[in-house]
Amino acid sequence: MTSAKKLVVLDRDGVINVDSDAFIKTPDEWIAIPGSLEAIARLNQAGYRVAVATNQSGIGRGLFDMATLNAMHEKMHRAAAVLGGRIDAVFFCPHTAEDQCECRKPKPGMLQAIVDRFEIDPAATPTVGDSLRDLQAGAALGFPTHLVLTGKGKKTLAAGGLPEGTKVHDDLKAFVLSFLAEQQE
Ligand SMILES: [Mg+2]
Ligand SMILES: [Zn+2]
Repeated sequence: MTSAKKLVVLDRDGVINVDSDAFIKTPDEWIAIPGSLEAIARLNQAGYRVAVATNQSGIGRGLFDMATLNAMHEKMHRAAAVLGGRIDAVFFCPHTAEDQCECRKPKPGMLQAIVDRFEIDPAATPTVGDSLRDLQAGAALGFPTHLVLTGKGKKTLAAGGLPEGTKVHDDLKAFVLSFLAEQQE
């Protein structure tokens, strides 16, 4: 595989940063999960690009605006860069369920946009999430699915019904170590 096609797709809340049932509404509330940004840097060092696909219905609900979302992502990009990590793209869905858009996960619209933008083969591109809808969106397009037990992950695992073949990891760092070890086999 050429390095241009090596990509990993991550959910944001509960995978990269600590999640909250009250939404992440400000840059101050955006706090990285220990080891997650280092894990992104390790992927980059191994030649993988990283894209994020995140439902952000807090915008549709009026809890925060686009400028604030951009400020959160500025913080994320800066914090990753300090550790040598880079997130190539952030795809977000600003809608609520009532909007019935095509991008809100479990719909696969954001992942399809990533496939188109990066011209990747979904079957060779892992997607990592902490909620069932992350995995369902990936599975709909044939992405290998990975559940992390940070964020809502433990609840998601307990609820069952994961897409066939989903692998489970303690956190993003554990996923990256396991994934990169597999690539070397
Ligand atoms: Mg999440
Ligand atoms: Zn949407």
